[in-house]
Formats: sequence, structure tokens, C-alpha cells
Amino acid sequence: MALEPNRQSVYLDYAASAPLHPKVREAMDPWLDPVHAGNPSAVHRAGRQARTALEDARDRIADALGIHPLDVLFTSGATEANNLAIAGALQGDAQAHVIAGATDHPSVIEPLTYAQTQGRCTLTWCTPMPVGNPDCGVIPAEHVTAALTPQTRLVVGTLVTSELGAIQPISNWLNAMSVHDEQANHPIWSHIDATQGIGRVPLEDIAARCTSMAISAHKLGGPQGVGVCIVRRNKTIISPILGGGQERGIRSGTIPVALCVGAGEAIAHAVNNQQREQQRIQVLSDSLVDGLTGTSWTPTVRSPHRVANIVHLTAPDTDTETAVMALDRAGVYVSAGTACQSGALKTSPLIKAIGLAPTQATLRLSMGWASTTQDIAQAVSALTKMAAGTAATGNMGSCVF
Ligand code: PMP
Repeated sequence: MALEPNRQSVYLDYAASAPLHPKVREAMDPWLDPVHAGNPSAVHRAGRQARTALEDARDRIADALGIHPLDVLFTSGATEANNLAIAGALQGDAQAHVIAGATDHPSVIEPLTYAQTQGRCTLTWCTPMPVGNPDCGVIPAEHVTAALTPQTRLVVGTLVTSELGAIQPISNWLNAMSVHDEQANHPIWSHIDATQGIGRVPLEDIAARCTSMAISAHKLGGPQGVGVCIVRRNKTIISPILGGGQERGIRSGTIPVALCVGAGEAIAHAVNNQQREQQRIQVLSDSLVDGLTGTSWTPTVRSPHRVANIVHLTAPDTDTETAVMALDRAGVYVSAGTACQSGALKTSPLIKAIGLAPTQATLRLSMGWASTTQDIAQAVSALTKMAAGTAATGNMGSCVF
């Protein structure tokens, strides 16, 4: 299919998926060539070369995070990593108590809810601080402490909430759990969904201390369809995926070398350049928020709780889907700030969790490696015109850009 040329467009949906970084493309390129089409499990030279490239990618990820390479397992993405880790943590226990965040990604919420309906666990959802609170979006460690019971076997923490961009105090959560572990005398499995946090916020302390962690390559300029599940090498997971026993038997299936090489490059590059790149993104993010001051668009999560690259906005008495489509017509690509608000009868879990009015529009603008000041200027201009148009006509769809 030929793609539409769209040179005027502004892509501000990196939290959904980022464009492939040129360094990643370059790293992957040789492994897309038929000459290198080896299966990394094969014993011939092509297979051995593929295995070397694969293990090099694994080492790069481990080095970037300061962990052992044997803890790094390649998966198809963070959805699979979250599912595998949750399956591992719940295996063996007749009925485990689990704590997770009410604003976690569906790939955390759905497997937990399913396990609950099967009678395999009971659940406590920790809710974030509501709209209007200076810490809006944050789930404080005290909420986790209050939820811990002698039966708690798993705590799932999301480092950065994908819709809101709220940074969760995961190190404090891990401290609360270790105090509890000492008193209760049994270890709790800590699983961290780091998908939106890696390369954006410091992670080494968390990577060293958690039991498992989910990462996705495509949020960072890596290819879609590959991610990482970090699982301590002393843990076994009776995997729902049975087959050839690859990746410690936890993730059977031929390992896609080119994708893993791309993931290695994307993750290592994002983590190793994090400080410089996040400073650059912070400037863009601040100019976006400053540029919207005085309009009806208000950022939901305030600094310092907001990750630099995600800005969640609300506007009163406005329809989200209309706003997203109006921006689309102006060439500005953003996502709805809630997973299932538009046209749905069901209220989004996010709206319920932080107490947003259902009549508010919610947008998520997210930036990344190719975002520029011009992109932000164009987005601010479109959002400002839209807000002015809405005020004048009460209808965003009528805005002319
Ligand atoms: N967790 C979070 C926090 C996410 O934002 C996403 C992607 N939207 C996922 C998990 C799932 O990632 P993937 O697309 O790699 O399955």
C-alpha cells in the first residue's frame, strides 16, 4: 500500500508508537539481509552469527540497566511481558492477593481481572491522587502500604502512567514492600511496567530491585513487535507459551534477530542519552504548556510529577473525539487522553480513577526523538484556534485552521 505523503504533519503520539530511529534502522539493516537469515538456535555459521548478534543486543540492554544479561528475555512487546510476569507471579498460589494501580495499562488490568474471575487472586486497585490535588495522577507509596496484607504475593507498579504521563514513586513502593517482606517473612513479587518510563526517568535502582519488568522497543524509536521481560534468573515461569524452549523456556518461538538487535539499539540509546534528550524534550514540553496558558486547555499532571515527553490536557464542555479529529485535519496527530471515552457508554477507568468530569475533552500529546520546536508551535497554534473557536461557536468541529 502506498503511504500518503504528509510533509506538513506534526506527529505528537510517541507514547502510542515512535518513528523508527535512524540508528536503529542502521543496526537492524544487516539482519534483514538474507545472507544473515540464520536462526539463532542453529549450529551452522549463519546461526552462530545470529546468536552472537542476539546476545550482543541482550548485553547492551543489560549494561544500560545495570542488570545481568540472563535476566533479559525478549518478547513481542510489553503486553506479552506484563502477561508473562503476572502468570509467573500467580503460579502455584491457590489464592494470592495482588495490588496494582487503577490507572495501569490494560495488559496489566485484563490478566489480573481474568485471574480474579477464575478465583486465582483477589485484587486491590490503588487509586491515584485526584484532579485538583497538586500530586494529581500519583499513587503514593502509603496507598500501597495500606493495601499490603499477609496474603499479598504480587505488586504491579507502572513507572509512568501512559495516558497521564504521571511518574509513580516506584522506589518508595519497593521500600514499602521490603519492610513488609521482613515483617511477613515471605517475598512479594514486584513487577514494574516500565514501558513509558524507560529512557525518560532514571531506572537503574528499580531495575536492580524488582522481580520483573516490562519494556517495549517501539515507544523509543525501536521496531514494533519486540520488547523485553526482565525476570530474575532464579525465577521460573510455567509459561502459557509452550514450544521450543527459547528464552529460558519462558518465551518459546524462533527469536527475531533483527527486531531484537533493533530493540537493543533503541533501549541502549534511549537510556544512555536519557539526561541530554530529556532536557531537550523538557524545553519543548514547557513551551507547549506555557503556550496554552490562558486557553481552555489545562495540563492534568503538574511538574515534577509529569514525565517530560507526555502532556495530558483537558478542556471543559468539549468532546474528545471531535477535538482529536479537528487536530487531525490541522495535521497535528495526538491521541485521546483516555482509552475508551469517545462514543463509549462505559466510563474510562482513568476518568473514574482521578475524578475527571466526563464532559471534559482529554488529549494526550507525546513527544520523542524527532520532535522539534516547530512541531510544538504548530500544535499550540491549532489548540489555541480550536479553544477560541469552541468559545465562539460551542463546536470544535467548526474550527477553521
Ligand atoms: N504498558 C504501557 C504502560 C503502555 O503504554 C503500553 C503501550 N501502549 C504497553 C504496556 C503495551 O506495549 P506493547 O505495545 O509493546 O505491547
